Amino acid sequence: MEKMSIEMPRVLLKTALCVAAAALLAAGVKSGDISARAKKLHFSSIVIDTHDDTTQRFLDGKFDMGERHANGSIDTPRMREGGLGAIFFSIWIPSKITGQEAVNRALTQIEAVRAQASAHPKDLVLATTAGEVRAAHKQGKIAALMGVEGGHMINSDLGVLRKFASLGVRYMTLTHSGNDEWADSSTDRPAHNGLTDFGKQVVREMNRLGVMVDISHVSDKTFYDALAVSEAPMIASHSSCRAICDVPRNVTDQMMNDLAAKGGVIQINYHVSFLSQEFRDTEKANPEINKAIAEEVQKRCGDNEACQLLEGDRLTREAVEQGKLPRVDWTKIIEHIDHAVKVAGVDHVGLGSDFDGANMPYGMEDASKLPKITDALLKKGYSEGDVKKILGENTLRVMSEVERVSRGLSKQPHK
Ligand SMILES: [Zn+2]
Repeated sequence: MEKMSIEMPRVLLKTALCVAAAALLAAGVKSGDISARAKKLHFSSIVIDTHDDTTQRFLDGKFDMGERHANGSIDTPRMREGGLGAIFFSIWIPSKITGQEAVNRALTQIEAVRAQASAHPKDLVLATTAGEVRAAHKQGKIAALMGVEGGHMINSDLGVLRKFASLGVRYMTLTHSGNDEWADSSTDRPAHNGLTDFGKQVVREMNRLGVMVDISHVSDKTFYDALAVSEAPMIASHSSCRAICDVPRNVTDQMMNDLAAKGGVIQINYHVSFLSQEFRDTEKANPEINKAIAEEVQKRCGDNEACQLLEGDRLTREAVEQGKLPRVDWTKIIEHIDHAVKVAGVDHVGLGSDFDGANMPYGMEDASKLPKITDALLKKGYSEGDVKKILGENTLRVMSEVERVSRGLSKQPHK
């Protein structure tokens, strides 16, 4: 989820295409254009997406994962079409909501994800380990996992963290776009000089519980503090490369290297504002565009997050079509993957789309488009083994390692 609390309050930007533009694009990139080799490789691989905000759509009680939708990016028909085998549903509420309300709303979302999985037993199965993801793949099912996006949802209480873990949460992003009580965010004013002592305790408890430490959204100092404390490899569940698009939400080459040196993975985010410097610069130079979108979204949706998502989508799409914002092509995702591989190594890159929570580039509107990534990487000369790593094996390796560290720490007396 990429709500920019500082620069663009209440704005959710997410681009999709109008039907006509989608049809035009599809003519150029329809699945027939994907090589037989790419299709075979893609659909035999475990493709994992570590960050999706579809959970917000579950909350109105009407959204059905089993139906194909004309809007948004994720439902089981489109996941099947795109060979997406495992998905981390984000548990997200804005940073400004804190205290017991934050805990309660997170629990409601966890239940909503669990309910979707139970309602579609032929397609979805709740998974909490790398082994369970592999088992789901063998059975032809999609593994549903959960990540909490923002440490504010534990209300500074390790008991709440344990409760989330017991309900199946397998990563926590230490902050969202605002600081929480114990960690600084990349898009807020520093208040804690990174992680506080309690923040370090949170990371240790996550290691013990087998909950992956996610450093997307956090400040650079928080990243280095967490890296120093964590005994298990960490992930950047939905971040891209700062060397290509200079935003604080992206990761520098040095950070990527350091994350990799401890076994971690950066899962590339498809949000246009993190992929394209041109898009970013245009937004910055013309703040009135996003302001107008934000005001219109607020007028239409109030505080309904799912509505904000869809209306933000529609209005941003209009702004791109009116030529106010630049068009960003899906191949930018490949540029970021390739850069991260060159910097951090092929064992340390994965996919974290931000579907249903951000602006998708043209040609990557939904999960059905994912085989294009496999095709593009093969065409770039990547080996089949390396493509499999990026699609999901790297994330599975981190999960296994986090589980191993957890087992080791659980044997020690509980401090
Ligand atoms: Zn996010």
